[in-house]
Amino acid sequence: TAGDRGFLAEEHKGEAESRPPVVTVMGHVDHGKTTLLDTLRKRSVAASEAGGITQRIGAYTVELDGQKITFIDTPGHEAFTAMRARGAQVTDIAVLVVAADDGVMPQTREAIAHARAAEVPIIVAINKIDKDGADPQMTRQSLSEEGVLADDWGGDIPMVEVSAKQNINLDGLLEILNLTAEMSELKAVREDDAAGIVLESTFDTTKGCLATLLVQRGTLKKGDWAVAGCNVCRVRLMQNDAGGEVLEASPSTAVQVTGFQDAPTAGDQFEVYKTAQEARAVADKREREMSRGPVGFAGL
Ligand code: GDP
Repeated sequence: TAGDRGFLAEEHKGEAESRPPVVTVMGHVDHGKTTLLDTLRKRSVAASEAGGITQRIGAYTVELDGQKITFIDTPGHEAFTAMRARGAQVTDIAVLVVAADDGVMPQTREAIAHARAAEVPIIVAINKIDKDGADPQMTRQSLSEEGVLADDWGGDIPMVEVSAKQNINLDGLLEILNLTAEMSELKAVREDDAAGIVLESTFDTTKGCLATLLVQRGTLKKGDWAVAGCNVCRVRLMQNDAGGEVLEASPSTAVQVTGFQDAPTAGDQFEVYKTAQEARAVADKREREMSRGPVGFAGL
């Protein structure tokens, strides 16, 4: 009964529950990252609920057979490296897009290096298989020379052949993503004050500062007091990738938030505090420490 469920939820408060994977798409320029992200995005549940009126907030969540996957919507390495440079681990899984008519290229190698440095599992999407010049075998061969060996070639890297443009086998890609996520046993506490990462922040002349927050643990709620860097935010409005208002955001989901007075920096971590006073105290302390920084250096 509903009562029993309520009781159970209470009893398990604070325990880690499984959460959706957060995925970054990387690869060489023109190999199809943007196209892949766009085609997948059309499957976003939130987007279809709102009748397809979507807005880009920096991440979106798609669902396959009830399993959710969150994609960071910035192709290339920028997001990945910027976040990691700030010490933030955003991604659980990296999708490496390699065009089947081109094979491994310089940025493919960089992407492999990034994923390895971050110690996240790699899934290869061999893209553009619809093209005349597509040669998936050659692509596998060139990847194997980089030490990226397909699981059906005796290695441990899942590879799927897709066409991002023609929407071929993207279900296959999502399936492998779900499988990889399952094996990674991704977990987060849900019943807690939220914490996570600032993915993007922009300024809107009517709405003020808009920041996209990726919740990594806990649940972000409307009215919460969050701090990112030295910036305090009273969460006034939260919108999902369809532009619909949400009142709560659970682990591995991203929401665009209004309520920051000054724009936080992408890659900053945020966390929620119980009261406005607590949040302000944390932000003030950081500000004092930062302004003291140069003095400290002068003293050395
Ligand atoms: P990105 O630079 O990696 O983001 O690559 P884009 O997504 O911008 O794609 C580069 C070009 O390749 C565009 O002209 C796309 O239309 C095209 N493209 C992407 N995916 C496919 C595909 O699966 N098949 C074909 N034939 N073209 C594709």
